[in-house]
Amino acid sequence: MAKQAERLRQPRPRTGASSRTKGRRSEDFDFRDLFENANDIVILNDRGGCIVMANRAAREFGGYSAEEVKRGVDLKEVLAPEEYEAAMILTQRALDGLPIPEVYERHAVLRDGRRRIVELRSNVLRNRSGEPLLQTIGRDVTESRHAAAFQASLAEVLRALLTAQGLDAASKVICDEALRVLEVDGVYLFLPSADEVVGAASAGAGAERFKGLRRSLNDSFVGKIFRRSDPLVANDFPSIYPGLELARGIDIRSLLAVPLRSSGATLGLLAFIHCHDPQYFVGEVCDRALIFAAQTAVAIESALARDREEEEGQVSAALLHVARAIRESLKEAEVVSQIAGSARSVLGCDWTFVSLWEDERKLFRVVATEGFTPEASEEMQLVEFHLKDFPETQELRADQPVEYPEPPAHAAMLFERWGGSSMLTQPISRGGAMIGTLAAGYRKRRGAFPARERRIIEGIAAQAAVALDNARLVEDLRRANDMKSEFLGTMSHELRTPLAAIIGYADLMREGVMGPLQPQQDQVLDRMLINGRSLLDLINTTLDVNRLESGRVAVEVSSFALNDLFTELRMELTARPSKEVVPVIWPVLQRPIVVRTDRGKLKVILRNLLENALKFTAEGSVSVSVSPGSSEQRVQLAVSDTGIGIPPQEQKVIFEMFRQVEGARDRSRSGVGLGLYLVRRYAQLLGGEVAVESSPGLGSKFKLDIPISLGE
Ligand code: ADP
Repeated sequence: MAKQAERLRQPRPRTGASSRTKGRRSEDFDFRDLFENANDIVILNDRGGCIVMANRAAREFGGYSAEEVKRGVDLKEVLAPEEYEAAMILTQRALDGLPIPEVYERHAVLRDGRRRIVELRSNVLRNRSGEPLLQTIGRDVTESRHAAAFQASLAEVLRALLTAQGLDAASKVICDEALRVLEVDGVYLFLPSADEVVGAASAGAGAERFKGLRRSLNDSFVGKIFRRSDPLVANDFPSIYPGLELARGIDIRSLLAVPLRSSGATLGLLAFIHCHDPQYFVGEVCDRALIFAAQTAVAIESALARDREEEEGQVSAALLHVARAIRESLKEAEVVSQIAGSARSVLGCDWTFVSLWEDERKLFRVVATEGFTPEASEEMQLVEFHLKDFPETQELRADQPVEYPEPPAHAAMLFERWGGSSMLTQPISRGGAMIGTLAAGYRKRRGAFPARERRIIEGIAAQAAVALDNARLVEDLRRANDMKSEFLGTMSHELRTPLAAIIGYADLMREGVMGPLQPQQDQVLDRMLINGRSLLDLINTTLDVNRLESGRVAVEVSSFALNDLFTELRMELTARPSKEVVPVIWPVLQRPIVVRTDRGKLKVILRNLLENALKFTAEGSVSVSVSPGSSEQRVQLAVSDTGIGIPPQEQKVIFEMFRQVEGARDRSRSGVGLGLYLVRRYAQLLGGEVAVESSPGLGSKFKLDIPISLGE
């Protein structure tokens, strides 16, 4: 080879280039220098694959001395074995004058065993003796090829990350891809969880050990790196961290740990290890790992946002479902069973129960269960859970949820008996006081409840508090109403009896049964009777309204002639002494008009309307009329007056309880505002309606429209 090298001369062009280069050849131009000092790698090899010459760049690149090249180096030694054959074929084709690729790539193997990628161009030269040699000029493109490959892989990773469903899937992609793209031996991703860092995903050496690993955020090796703001590079790892417990069994030579930071917060920690090279994380490799980590931070942030969004959606949908279910009822027993039922269905857990707190006795009582066997449910509702037996009650009372990732020792028997493996109890609190709890649990699943479930149960408990509060309010109101009715009923009865006696005796005296009266005594008795009667009317109306409100009024239907009812009312009105003087004009009915309805209630309606008309009419008259109703099967009865009238804005409200027209009432007119309320309610009971037409100062007309014949 040495001889061959010496024989080497300037190429003799095979083509017409000779005429162009002729002049230069005579110049004193040292082509050997040019060859030797070229920046590019240049080698010459013969047909047998022997490198007959290599310039300085080539020797330095490969790690060979000039002497070694002189002694002879073969292509076999400097090429990747799998490429040697192809290189020999190319040499022969070129030397035979056959076409070869203009540019091609080979993997060069350096003296120290490292591989590099070279981009090559070859052409044929002849030595002095005319022997053809292959000249190859090349360039090390390893870095740019790696960079391009890294870019491509990174793009691949990003695509995978962006389509990964949720953080769990993204974490797995991150570790698997880092292993591949960065050519490291182990990758571990840690994410924060409360005051811990948890191994979320891992790949390569020690993957099993790190997945799910939990370490304190404050005082652990991992926690400390997590809290750093800059990456930790620990090449030559064993000498920096000798005997580190975490690394036992894994031959870590180099470590790079990068806190994944975004918008000032640390989202996670990504660690890479290399098990062979003690100086792996330097230069380009280190930069690439850092770029990868930065991309990871972005991916984690968006995965977190996606998870959050999804969780948000799930939580609101679940709470909406529960809100709808709870809204259905206002009875406490129904509300609690709705809470238990809907909580179980939205959480998808095995069972739920609601208990209420009895503050006086300091105990819980289970009031609704869902998902237990009937026997277990019955037992649970019988047991009293005393404060002293359940110390966690204190936490619940402080509005803190209590979680059992597994059965607690002090209640292991109950968990076993009713079928529980884990449970979350959320206090139901109102105005700072605990009124009960909502518990959800599983029969087999153990471990902490995920954030989504915790939020849902918290939301349900908040709604439960409002619903239970409403149910209690309604219950209190109902009770108060019952008491009021009872009170009114008793009071009125107690008043009515003596009042009836007073009126009865006054009547007898006025009739002269107890001897003749002086005109003055007669007048006084009249006044006593008027006032007594209106007091009795008031009591009767109160009793009627009370009966109506408590639903104790039955409709009793009978057939009767309106003519008879009118006669009866007329006699009653004339019989009672009254201050009012205007006449009442009754309808002249040619033949009896027979109706089928509740006679008593119709009479109360008409009497109230007539008494009002007389009360508010000082001049003119009051008249009663009968006419066809709003349909063929109905009849209209009306009471008109020429009294003070009712302003338009008041015409609707006078039918409500205790409503009177402002200013119309004075001391001379009795009444509390119950008459028209009773009229309207009775009219409704008779299947009818009551309406008013009125002009202030001209008079009013109250019209009652009822069915002629009321069904049973
Ligand atoms: P009360 O007559 O005991 O006050 P009502 O319920 O019977 O109670 O009537 C409510 C109010 O409606 C009366 O206070 C009065 O202001 C008005 N009102 C009722 N009937 C008439 C009428 N015929 N003319 C004028 N105002 C009336």
